[in-house]
Amino acid sequence: MDGSRGLYRVETEEGSFSCTIRGRLRKELVYAESGAARRSVRHVEVMPHDPVAVGDRVRILPTGGASGVIEQVVARAGGAFSRRDPDPKSGNLRTVAGLDQLVPVFATRDPEPHLGLLDRFLVVAESQRMRPIICITKCDLGLAPELVARLEVYRALGYPVVHTSVSTGEGLDDLRALLAGKVSALVGKSGVGKSSLLNALLPEADLRVGEVSAATGKGRHTTTSTRLLPLGGSDGGYLADTAGIRALGLDRDAERMLDACFPEFRPHLGTCMLADCTHTHEPECAVRAAVAGGQVDAVRYASYCRMRGYDGATPLAEEMWDADDDFAE
Ligand code: GDP
Ligand code: ZN
Repeated sequence: MDGSRGLYRVETEEGSFSCTIRGRLRKELVYAESGAARRSVRHVEVMPHDPVAVGDRVRILPTGGASGVIEQVVARAGGAFSRRDPDPKSGNLRTVAGLDQLVPVFATRDPEPHLGLLDRFLVVAESQRMRPIICITKCDLGLAPELVARLEVYRALGYPVVHTSVSTGEGLDDLRALLAGKVSALVGKSGVGKSSLLNALLPEADLRVGEVSAATGKGRHTTTSTRLLPLGGSDGGYLADTAGIRALGLDRDAERMLDACFPEFRPHLGTCMLADCTHTHEPECAVRAAVAGGQVDAVRYASYCRMRGYDGATPLAEEMWDADDDFAE
């Protein structure tokens, strides 16, 4: 789609529509620069911008003739993720768009790593076409053998896993190399060491959360913009300051595509007996057969079922929202 001054041209199979945008959508979502702007980004403060970006896939409601209203952003070209507005009363969403990479951060301990949360981060990344990079911090404290074994599962799936420590400097060059030239965001529970990593990775010390608060003059919990912090180095790249992120959510489309967000399921999809198989309880399910046969890791499959809302758990979107505690300070 193509937008100018509140009117957007949306190309559909039934032709071109001239669309306005739902007021609600405009209020709820704040996007960073588009993918095109990102490549030549000069100023790193990301301002609230159109909730719809050129190139987005949107859902429209035709209102007669060739006119319509944009109801929902279904997917964007680059990666994006949403965060809950700091104001719990408004319940607004903010979205940082144009992320190339999502970096889930887990500590070896303090806090203990719970990799169910990693599976959710990976689904967010997969559904929004961000490259995930798994970062393990505090490796100077030692890795439990169970953690080492679990990380092998993710490596085998093709996800890069970096072992770091800001205390010893281990892995920081590897991480830098993976971040170079890309726009990435570190995500993870409070206390895993995200700020420490930011400070170790950024060329200028102290470019961190505190400065964002000072810049907006309102304190971090009412920060309304997300900054992209330049990584320096010959290849450039940015780290998004995601201090305000309280929870990650998925839109309904992503929820529907959940099975495809597990790369190890993909060879089996479409071969279940039922066309609309959810791979939780149906007979002759190819995914469940692969779990039974050991081709698909059973713990990852259990994460999938939890996100699906099988097992008496809440459905994915709500569960993701309720992951708030994982981000609480
Ligand atoms: P954040 O909440 O994710 O930003 O985590 P912080 O960066 O504030 O770190 C939380 C705590 O973990 C602090 O006490 C840090 O000193 C400590 N920490 C961070 N990185 C490391 C590390 O690599 N090794 C060790 N031993 N401690 C670390
Ligand atoms: Zn199935």
